[in-house]
Amino acid sequence: MKWPNFRLPLFDLAGTAIQPPPANGGDLLRSKIPLLKSPASKSTGADESDERTIALDGRRVDYKLVRRRGRRGVGLKVNGTGMTVSASLTTPIGAIEDMIGKNEQWVLRKLGEWSHRKITPQRWETGATIFYMGEPLTLMIDAGYTRVHVDQAGPHLFVRIKAALGDADAIAEQSEVAVINWIKRQALPYLAQRAFFFAKLHNLTPPRVFISSANNRWGSCNSRREIRFSWRLMKARPALIDYVVCHELSHLRQMNHSAAFWQEVERMCPDYAALKSELDQNDHRFRAF
Ligand SMILES: [Zn+2]
Repeated sequence: MKWPNFRLPLFDLAGTAIQPPPANGGDLLRSKIPLLKSPASKSTGADESDERTIALDGRRVDYKLVRRRGRRGVGLKVNGTGMTVSASLTTPIGAIEDMIGKNEQWVLRKLGEWSHRKITPQRWETGATIFYMGEPLTLMIDAGYTRVHVDQAGPHLFVRIKAALGDADAIAEQSEVAVINWIKRQALPYLAQRAFFFAKLHNLTPPRVFISSANNRWGSCNSRREIRFSWRLMKARPALIDYVVCHELSHLRQMNHSAAFWQEVERMCPDYAALKSELDQNDHRFRAF
């Protein structure tokens, strides 16, 4: 289950710099000509890339043009980093701009949607909020301790770290590490238990569950019946977590994203469509750290 990739330049329509790129694969629109899926061109990445600007409906829109040898057709992608256009090494710029122009309304709409989904950098200081299981927890940070300790009490997350009092950089750095480690420790028993629960309910042999630090996917499943969940999933509310658990469990029966797979997901998680969309729409909220 993939998340979006972080990519490069970030400018909104007004030309203002925006925060690091969200996730969620972005929205993809391709020309009718099929993509050439050559592993070689994938591994070598872009052969040429260029920052360009085009006027769309009277507005100046920055985009990144990525040219790859062997690429067929022109591909447009819009995500939190802005628009990326893919083309072959020889496609004339006029043809590329025509393609963008033909999809002007789509591009402007997607850029508008993404402009509301910027990632706000996480603050690591007392009073800042982190989301855990969908609930806001207020960080209460204490420096100068001899050992690191994190403890939740109601809506507060008490974080004791070794950094010297007043050393804001060290405090921020150590608080982040301490909180991530705390979330990871909660993640394994919680997610393994949810996977076990849904597996039993749907007559599946429970998989082995692992926690990953993936920042581009919520979970993954392999043919050895191993499921990995990103610890970042623990930021989401329980219903969203359950959807991801059911999604990955469904891969034990269908190792693909076919219609049969989604039927399986629906059987385990009847609300899956709304939950999937909520997760996609809020992806940027889970990416601050
Ligand atoms: Zn999947």
